[in-house]
Amino acid sequence: MSSNSENKIHKVIIVGSGPAGLTAAIYTARGRLDPLVIEGYQAGGQLMTTTEVENFPGFKDGIMGPELMMAFRAQAERFGAEFITKNVTKVDLTGDIKKVWVDNDLYLAQTVIISTGASANLLGLKNESRLMGRGVSSCATCDGFFFRDKTIAVVGGGDSAMEEATFLTRFASKVYVIHRREGFRASKIMLEKAENNPKIDFILNAIVTDVIGEDAVTAVKLQDTQTDAESELALDGLFVAIGHTPNTQLFDGQIEVDQKGYILTSQDKSHITATNLPGVFACGDVQDKRYRQAITAAGSGCSAALDAEHYLELLPELEEMSEPVTA
Ligand code: NAP
Repeated sequence: MSSNSENKIHKVIIVGSGPAGLTAAIYTARGRLDPLVIEGYQAGGQLMTTTEVENFPGFKDGIMGPELMMAFRAQAERFGAEFITKNVTKVDLTGDIKKVWVDNDLYLAQTVIISTGASANLLGLKNESRLMGRGVSSCATCDGFFFRDKTIAVVGGGDSAMEEATFLTRFASKVYVIHRREGFRASKIMLEKAENNPKIDFILNAIVTDVIGEDAVTAVKLQDTQTDAESELALDGLFVAIGHTPNTQLFDGQIEVDQKGYILTSQDKSHITATNLPGVFACGDVQDKRYRQAITAAGSGCSAALDAEHYLELLPELEEMSEPVTA
């Protein structure tokens, strides 16, 4: 294992670069903590695959998700945040000096802010993964363009499903929303928008049991959840929008998580973003299964930055630390 920059010990390493991580970067950079942001190969988080964001305060006419994230990043860079566009491959966050590996390069820090977000869930069907990228997708904004004048379906009953279905009507001739019950998690306004769209039809109390097609999706098999009756629906594409799983695998065995895998925060009295490990803070969707909005993620990124800053103020001088640093 090689160590980078002659074992420089950063004050803050931020892992992840969605609204939470980049807000933490802006605040820690302005606080002269010289943050190192390991932003990942897919930098920018979930807003990079979103179209128009209408509810982020300050943008009266809305703003495109990627444009918003570019602005966050540029703002952090302006105050001196350093970026590495690679994935973290291993961590040891248990000691006073935190160790973060990117392949063979080891980065050291006094504090780590985890903002790795959450990833899209899939239905778990064999043919769903086989046909991924060939008609099956979990990202309407990435793949919608390929479905011009086609018939497609979106699975799910939350805001994501409504947003994706509405967005996809820009391209598709027909969009079905397939949902496993009659009630919706989606907010009223987004549900109504989908319901009022003449291109969208709802298929309720139905689950997708199979995706059919050799090289491309041609249909899905449906099962009625009330009668068990099976049917087939001819389709050119299937978009899966059934929620997300927090990206915490990297921290398995080190950071305490809840039953669904979300990082547990507020683990010390003075810091709302504190994890079970001193000097390790978490913000954004990786620790929030309730609000999951760009603005709440950004807010918690701010809290994590201030918590890390406060933690550092309380620490003894670095050279007085007793722990020897070894790779
Ligand atoms: P969500 O609210 O958790 O909804 C997931 C949906 O998928 C639920 O309707 C659920 O059904 C269904 N589902 C879950 N597993 C399934 C399975 N195996 N098979 C079939 N259906 C399944 O997730 P989300 O829509 O991704 O939204 C997450 C958060 O982001 C929410 O807080 C939402 O408000 C927010 N969001 C906001 C916006 C916006 O404001 N622009 C856009 C997108 C998302 P059940 O209801 O039966 O459990």
